[in-house]
Parts: sequence; C-alpha cells; structure tokens
Amino acid sequence: MHVKSGDKVVVISGKDKGKVGKVLKASPKENRVIVEEVNMLTKHKKPMGPTEPGGIIKYEGPIDASNVMYYCDKDKQGVRIGYTVLSDGRKVRVCKKCGEVLDK
Ligand SMILES: [Zn+2]
Repeated sequence: MHVKSGDKVVVISGKDKGKVGKVLKASPKENRVIVEEVNMLTKHKKPMGPTEPGGIIKYEGPIDASNVMYYCDKDKQGVRIGYTVLSDGRKVRVCKKCGEVLDK
C-alpha cells in the first residue's frame, strides 16, 4: 500500500473529502485504512453496571486506501508516492512532487 500506520494523509473522496489526519491503522490485505477523525461512526453502548455507565461511543470506521493520498508537509497537499533505493540499500518512499524522502 502507498500509506501505512502513522502517515499523514488527506482524504480525496467521500463525505470527509479534504480532511487531513494520521493513519491509525492500515490493513494491506483489505486495502483499508483507519484515519484519525475521518469516517466517524457512533455506537450505543449498554450500561454495564455502576462503573460503566454506557452511552454513545465515537470511533473511526475504516475507509478504502484508494480514497486517501499521502499528505506532504512541504507541498501542503496530497501527493503521489515514488520509491527510491538509498546508498545503504534501503528502499524508501519519496514525494513525487518535491522529492522529499518520506521514510526517515
Ligand atoms: Zn512533497
């Protein structure tokens, strides 16, 4: 996948289009990501006794990874990702727009 957990991404389609957030979880198998404050869902929780009063819980639902783009802090926008191999043999991601190495 082009994004992974901890990445800053921008949503490019859907109801949260334009939102920028951090990837909380990436599931490469399903090609889905969970992004901070994006696709917020609510769940009603039943009271489970005096210590757990219940109520409404908000949580992020997964979205398709193709709906997000890596957000480059330098470009201040969603960018395409390229790959390059460093002199020490590490394969890292780079911003295709400004050339910044994204994997430190
Ligand atoms: Zn960039």
